[in-house]
Amino acid sequence: MNLKRVINIYNCNELYLYEIIEDFKEAKSQSEKDYIFNSFCLSIWNSENNRRIYKKTIKFNIRKDLLNTDIGKIFDTWSEIEYKYYKSITQNENWNSIIRQKINNIYTRYFDKEVILGKEYMDLIKTPKKLYYKWISGTDTNADTLVYLIDKAIDQSEKVKKKLQMEKMKLSWEEYKKITEKFLYSCFTRCKLIDRYEDKASISKRFDFLTEDHFYVSYINKCLEGEIRKWQKKYYNLPASNRKGYKRCKVCRRIIKNDSKNRQYCPACKKENRKKINRDYYIKTVLNS
Ligand SMILES: [Zn+2]
Repeated sequence: MNLKRVINIYNCNELYLYEIIEDFKEAKSQSEKDYIFNSFCLSIWNSENNRRIYKKTIKFNIRKDLLNTDIGKIFDTWSEIEYKYYKSITQNENWNSIIRQKINNIYTRYFDKEVILGKEYMDLIKTPKKLYYKWISGTDTNADTLVYLIDKAIDQSEKVKKKLQMEKMKLSWEEYKKITEKFLYSCFTRCKLIDRYEDKASISKRFDFLTEDHFYVSYINKCLEGEIRKWQKKYYNLPASNRKGYKRCKVCRRIIKNDSKNRQYCPACKKENRKKINRDYYIKTVLNS
């Protein structure tokens, strides 16, 4: 490790990421490695790039001359639909801000039940706006049909939202920080130093980087993606790989093995479903006889 970095307290904020990773790799003892790694984590958690959730609105303005018509009034009640959104990119080019952004995004995507942005859901809540533009561009409609179509879409959007919420796992931010540090540690350990790649032409063809830091930032972010997917399998008690892939239980939306077309439920829901079939059968045949 560079002597200057030892004398001054190891401050990752003042270093390039490649320097930190090199120091980590070249550290002589485990405690030195831990020291460097902890300082790296601190810099990530102290980044000002916090996870931010905010409200967004699907908006449209009813033309003034249509505002007092029956149909115009109906559209007006649906002219602002709110949903939760999140800050998903950073303008800050520091490595700690970019990695922190990735960490934030993974949490939002896998664990935050408030932020639901699946296409199926978004398309449904955009229904009033789409119908409005169809109407003003000449598609005929009447008040009853319109109310029916909008209600149906909004009802369905609630169902889809619940389904997508069930597909997210449960983990507090504090717990997530702990597992993320494990992920990062494994990224550090597995990461190869860039100069070891230099004689391998295939690598430089695959990665076209501006700086060494771009290489490591992109390596770590990719690595985090892989780690969370592995962790998700563990969360659902699944093997790390499955020849036929995975799908979701029809009822509770947990991930299950995709072993056959007939498999639709996880073991617990399958049991519950069988009980229900037996119960219905009992009611129909025994009680009614
Ligand atoms: Zn289930």
